Amino acid sequence: MNNFSDFKLSPVLKSNLSRAGFVKPTPVQSEAIPPALEGRDVIATAQTGTGKTLAFVVPILESLSSDKARLDAAIQASVYGAVRALILTPTRELAMQIHETFAKLQGSTGLQAVVVCGGMNETRQLRAIRGGASIVVATPGRLVDFLDRKLVKLSGVKTLVLDEADRMLDMGFLPTIKRILSEMSEARQTLFFSATMESSVKSLITTHLKNPVRVA
Ligand code: AMP
Repeated sequence: MNNFSDFKLSPVLKSNLSRAGFVKPTPVQSEAIPPALEGRDVIATAQTGTGKTLAFVVPILESLSSDKARLDAAIQASVYGAVRALILTPTRELAMQIHETFAKLQGSTGLQAVVVCGGMNETRQLRAIRGGASIVVATPGRLVDFLDRKLVKLSGVKTLVLDEADRMLDMGFLPTIKRILSEMSEARQTLFFSATMESSVKSLITTHLKNPVRVA
């Protein structure tokens, strides 16, 4: 695809992309966005700087905005909020950058993203989730703390992103990631990004992804 306008996206998202100055997709975006929009699992070997963030932000916003009415009903019915997309990333700095990309592109979709990380005010994070933020961008530690204290539910997550998966494993997050995965429905979509594909990364893929499309 040469241009974001060639993708099967809603007019709102196309207009938000163009307003944010994004015209031509990068290679990882061209290859990952179409299968992700079809609901497929995707594995991308991609470093920071390749545009990998937009490669998952765009399909998440598209799928949740088309499901907005159902989402609003679910939020009203639950004291845990209605988290529909979860992005796990190794550091607070990366979580903030991903959140900024959502903020730039979510305009007038009515969707909200929240950062769930240690070292930040947890009351504000919980209030945002209960108030209807359907997209959670989290580091594994704080999220598992919320799960252990039964403050958040992940059973409604439709799309999980594992961002910089190799780095999360290097940081010793494997048990935490497994615990988080165990709270989610197996029917979800998983988008997997890693700069390297060492054996620990491959084993996570084999166990948790379904017939994934591979993007280099
Ligand atoms: P990332 O690899 O996701 O961290 O993105 C690296 C940088 O590239 C960020 O500053 C993005 O805003 C920028 N970027 C991502 N996709 C595009 C695009 N399609 N056109 C222009 N800039 C982009």
